[in-house]
Amino acid sequence: MRPEILFPLFRPLTALAGVGPRIAKACARLDLERPVDLLWHLPSGLLDRRFSPPLDTAPDGVVATVVVDVGRHLPASNRRLPYRVPCHNESGELTLVFFHARPNYLQRVLPEGSSRVVSGRLERFRGELQMSHPDHIGEPAELARIQTLEPVYPLTAGLTAKALQKATNDALSELPEMPEWLDPALQKAENWLPWQAAVQAVHSPAGFDDLDPLATARARLAYDELLANQLALALMRRSLRRRAGRTTQAEGHLRQRVIAALDYQLTGAQQRTLGEVDADLAAEHRMLRLLQGDVGSGKTIVALLAMLTAVEAGAQATLMAPTEILARQHFATIEPLAQVAGVRLGLLLGRGRQKGRAATLRALAAGEIDILVGTHAVFQQEVEFRDLAFAVIDEQHRFGVHQRLALSAKGAGRCDLLVMTATPIPRTLALTAFGDMETSRLDEKPPGRLPVETRALPLERLEEVVKALERHVADGARVYWVCPLVAESEISDLAAAEQRQAHLSQHFGQRVALVHGRMKGSLKDDAMARFASGEVEILVATTVIEVGVDVPEATVMVIEHAERFGLAQLHQLRGRVGRGTGASSCLMLYAPPLGEVARRRLEIMRQTEDGFRIAEEDLKLRGAGEVLGTRQSGLPAFRLADLGAHGELLAMARDDARLILERDSDLESPRGQALRVLLYLFERDAAVGYLGSG
Ligand code: ADP
Ligand code: MG
Repeated sequence: MRPEILFPLFRPLTALAGVGPRIAKACARLDLERPVDLLWHLPSGLLDRRFSPPLDTAPDGVVATVVVDVGRHLPASNRRLPYRVPCHNESGELTLVFFHARPNYLQRVLPEGSSRVVSGRLERFRGELQMSHPDHIGEPAELARIQTLEPVYPLTAGLTAKALQKATNDALSELPEMPEWLDPALQKAENWLPWQAAVQAVHSPAGFDDLDPLATARARLAYDELLANQLALALMRRSLRRRAGRTTQAEGHLRQRVIAALDYQLTGAQQRTLGEVDADLAAEHRMLRLLQGDVGSGKTIVALLAMLTAVEAGAQATLMAPTEILARQHFATIEPLAQVAGVRLGLLLGRGRQKGRAATLRALAAGEIDILVGTHAVFQQEVEFRDLAFAVIDEQHRFGVHQRLALSAKGAGRCDLLVMTATPIPRTLALTAFGDMETSRLDEKPPGRLPVETRALPLERLEEVVKALERHVADGARVYWVCPLVAESEISDLAAAEQRQAHLSQHFGQRVALVHGRMKGSLKDDAMARFASGEVEILVATTVIEVGVDVPEATVMVIEHAERFGLAQLHQLRGRVGRGTGASSCLMLYAPPLGEVARRRLEIMRQTEDGFRIAEEDLKLRGAGEVLGTRQSGLPAFRLADLGAHGELLAMARDDARLILERDSDLESPRGQALRVLLYLFERDAAVGYLGSG
């Protein structure tokens, strides 16, 4: 239950005095739905209202605040003309201009013959100095209040700066008196204000420096958010690990047999990873390990060899893939090797997706299957193992890892877990998503892979590219041609891809297939299968090339409008070629002129194929939220923290969280109580549920 002290921050916006339903609706478009959201909606700029020039020499186009005497109003003679209010002071004249004016209102705020402060943008129009729709009109006594640096907020249709400022001020005027959750020594060392003062400060910047993410008030709030994140992860992880684990050990006979049957040597990174996994399996506590390795880094064999430890110890293991296609692919890869080791392998898909499913389930429960490969359906209630010791989850590109772990903890009881992901994640991001979860990295590609020759070309050379493809295809190459996101709508993406297919068909006839996001699954599979079998040589695709599908014969990747893709996407796309023995190439076609960031991206792509380095560069170029598309990826989105700028704070928060739980494991001390408030403030309510449950 959310503590009472936070109630004012989590009411509907309309509970604020100055916010009616209309403004609340506009705010909702920016996801501002409660006062707390307003607090986290930080100024993105500053407007300087301190300038007060003499009117006769005032420059055009600047924002100014001046005191004037109000002259006789000149109402509009017709609806298309503005209502005008001539004003003056000792330095010259200024006409205030209002379109669609409400005369009563203007008479009230600008009484003829009175003196008034007005603030807004000055413009010269036909020799006359004008200010249309001043942002502020007030009595002379209000000059000091108006003549300031004003924070500028991101806005949206229907939401004026004034309305948002008013709502924000309302929210700020009711800040609860929070207990301090920061470590006093840290707070002192960093010179951080108390929470209330910090919130006030970020909304009243005194200069451009205060907008910097590292400015003290902003840094403090970012730290609060990161601490809540790290504390929540630490609690979740502790609760998972507290469940009794088991020790699983083997001498490695099965593993040796499989290794002897491989026609390659394990890489150093694969051996190191196996060592790490074995140590975890042998340890008393429950294993929770993340294995990161780029596409093609050889995760599958690591998964198999790791599972053999459990099998040799007399227990069962399972490998789960995110899609049926991948589950089948893993099964096909593993089957011959399992035979070598004399290990009994099973395949389990969703209900109704497979003949003989009931028999598989029976064999599993009887312990007649040692390793079960399947989709995530493996964690369904009806699936019973005789003795499951170890589960490997192949996540590919998603990171809902903690939800997944929580779920699997139910299904899999005390079994050890290894989660594999194919998207390299920068260390900072990994920390926010997984906290202190142990991580292994396959950062070494199997030897013998040829580098993918990567080039960037302007789109005007497209016909040249097509000519070159004709030669490649004649030599038996297979080609991916990726069309980008054209607009927000999938329909126009599709149109572009269809057009490209038509265009390429003029050169290649029937040898071009198309896949796109709106296609039915079976049609998509069909097109992919025709490409995989070589029936068609060119596959035109919108960005949805099925994750993980392996066509080793594909050696050319053309990416149209490469400047519109993020680095991670470009890297994933390029990863579809260079998987076989043939030399591969990746052509990034771009529309000049390239912006600075796009140019940098293409340059990095040409410099390196190292997914980890690319991920780090991506983080630098884009800011964390965007790196992997936070929403789809399941990575946490931060409101205040900016991982590009706050990496160091994140590391501090991780250490802080660890120390906190060491000293006060159930957050019962006064600081512990304050930290509970912090968790609720950042809506990590679920994490509080892990407290005190033992
Ligand atoms: P990932 O799942 O990490 O994308 P895979 O496990 O599918 O990669 O491996 C990609 C390819 O590399 C497979 O054909 C596999 O047999 C091969 N491979 C794996 N490890 C090695 C190695 N050490 N040396 C050579 N080839 C390897
Ligand atoms: Mg794989």
